[in-house]
Amino acid sequence: MGKHLAPKPKHELNFIKKKPTHASGQTKPVHALRTEKTADTKDVRKSAGRERVKRGFRAAKAKRNAGSEEARRSVPRIRVPETLPSLGRFSRYVPVIAALLLIGIHFVPLEGWMVPAAYAIPGLLAIMDHAADAYEGVRGGRYINNAFLSCLSSVLLFSTGLYTVAVVLLLLSSLSNLFEKHLLDKCAGAQNRISSILPKYATLITESGTDNIDPADVNPGDILLVAAGERIPIDGIVVDGISTIDTAAVSGQRSPWAVNVGYKVYSGCRNLTSDIKIKASRPYQQSTAWKLVRLADAAPDFASEQGSSASRFMLYYQPVVLGLALVFGVVLPIFRGGWAPHLQRAAVMLVAARAVTDCFSIPLLYRKALSLTADFGVFSKGQDCIEAIAKAETIIFDKTGTITEGRYAVTDVYPVKMSEKQLLTIAAAAESFSRHPVAAAIREAAGIIDDRVIRAAKLRDYPGRGISALLGNRQVYVGNAALLEEHGIKYQIPSRPGTAIHVSVDSRYCGYILVTDKVRRRAFDALETLRVNGIKKLVLLTGDVFSVARPIASRLNFDMLRAELKPEEKAKAVNYLMKNKGARSTIAFVGEGENSGRIISGADVGIAMGSLGSDAALASADVLIMDRDIFKIPRTLTISRLVYRAAWENFAVGAGINILLALLGMFGWISPLAAVILSFMSCVALLGNSLRIK
Ligand code: ADP
Ligand code: MG
Repeated sequence: MGKHLAPKPKHELNFIKKKPTHASGQTKPVHALRTEKTADTKDVRKSAGRERVKRGFRAAKAKRNAGSEEARRSVPRIRVPETLPSLGRFSRYVPVIAALLLIGIHFVPLEGWMVPAAYAIPGLLAIMDHAADAYEGVRGGRYINNAFLSCLSSVLLFSTGLYTVAVVLLLLSSLSNLFEKHLLDKCAGAQNRISSILPKYATLITESGTDNIDPADVNPGDILLVAAGERIPIDGIVVDGISTIDTAAVSGQRSPWAVNVGYKVYSGCRNLTSDIKIKASRPYQQSTAWKLVRLADAAPDFASEQGSSASRFMLYYQPVVLGLALVFGVVLPIFRGGWAPHLQRAAVMLVAARAVTDCFSIPLLYRKALSLTADFGVFSKGQDCIEAIAKAETIIFDKTGTITEGRYAVTDVYPVKMSEKQLLTIAAAAESFSRHPVAAAIREAAGIIDDRVIRAAKLRDYPGRGISALLGNRQVYVGNAALLEEHGIKYQIPSRPGTAIHVSVDSRYCGYILVTDKVRRRAFDALETLRVNGIKKLVLLTGDVFSVARPIASRLNFDMLRAELKPEEKAKAVNYLMKNKGARSTIAFVGEGENSGRIISGADVGIAMGSLGSDAALASADVLIMDRDIFKIPRTLTISRLVYRAAWENFAVGAGINILLALLGMFGWISPLAAVILSFMSCVALLGNSLRIK
């Protein structure tokens, strides 16, 4: 085989040469704020919400990042999600009694003052359910609150002689509140399910035996006993025993996992088959279970754009309608007379001014999406992340570890003037500390190397290219063609397509090692499902060579491929796509959290696969897929799209009925009873819409 000087690869792309001009490309990663939920972060979050109104999702993301340092320093304290207080036994029956009384009164012949007096009894009972809330609201300065408006409207109707309608209004409000509370409770229940992965105790091994202690009191380095069937209390390393670990609670999928001495284990997972001893490697509050629960706990607090639009709508709508109600109900009759019909119009407008449900139930929809996805091991950092996924038209994939399994294997060795074994040994020794999957493959192929023979020193990482190391006093390079070119070392062009890892010692070329990685089993189906769900463009980025990436891209129908990219070129490619996307759409980036932190945070929404135990993923990604099931991306997308559409429906129906009622009421074209029933029905429709999300 002749030696050639390899031609300079022509992978420099047009778009990469363009200078990124927009500031958003420079956003730092760290969404840590979302995991660090404290009082301090409230303001940041609030202003982040305001900011989003002005400049969209990316601005809000940047703002959150800016506040994160502050938030990180403050002591984290967990708020174990509590369910909403259920109505007391007494108050739950009060509306029922009121309803029965109301029906009963219809059968009693009454006359004169007896009539209002009789209706006042169910009226007072029914108003009890709202009066306290109304009082609380008004005292807290929220004069425009649902309970208060209901009470006021009911009083107006009662005063004009519409006794039945006045009581029915209150009863239906109670009923819709009950329904809403029930649905919120269900979401809170899902939240509780997530927090059940928190360990209750840890079994510390002491000189005199064992001791059950609070997991928070475990120090790194402590040796803990985890009996079969118990939950692993803290992230650590197995020091004794062989067992099987189930990550189902964390990753949402039953995936038993054999562990042996030296293996890492993560808190929240269950130890299945036999007792093991682990050495704690982190404090409790930096362990996986704790971080996940906090993340899931904080997520509902980051509102979606749709949610903020809805609250902005109410912000303008309510005062306008109330102002008109005042004009039509009080000012007009002063001049024209005819108080009763005018007051009834005002009452209808008060009904119309109520927020049918909280923000048209948009937060409820998103909460549901958060808990549904968390159930299968996908944790989002906010409602806005779900929304951003729903709006995605482009998804960028980093090849290794997402589309492929990220587990390389050596297939061939082509040594130059040495044996295969020698070449592998040199490469493996140089790679001894690299965390790249290629390094793992080479080490495995080389077998065990005696430390005393060759000891690597002065290691240096060249991201996206390879590594260099000193073996004895010899300079060794192990990496792709770009690495050798950079150091002016001539190399052989591989005679077969594939990922070639070249090796040189003191500028002398020693040959190359071919490695391959398998495409994930269900990658094709997953990508097709994404397309069916409306993704228009699938992009594949990789640092690997074209000869490997091109067949994968064409087999999986990618629309765009960029190969032989260094990490910074990947980031530029993401920036380029971000700059040239449609105004209303977003771009999602799917990477493997450990290596692609900066690139992940460059897209609108970063999705990290294989996030279990990865701090980098936790810090930089917006959506964490705990295991490596690629099919969870389309599953998340489907739910997000469903929620996104349902949220618009809710907004349209809710706001539409509100406006319609207000107009009809204003001109007196609707009877108060019809208005009350219509309002109730719209509430049921909005809440019921969330039941469709499954
Ligand atoms: P990917 O886009 O597939 O994740 P990377 O950016 O991690 O790829 O790496 C790109 C290429 O650089 C690899 O295909 C490999 O050829 C080379 N490379 C990176 N790190 C190493 C290493 N530690 N040892 C050998 N080769 C490496
Ligand atoms: Mg990589």
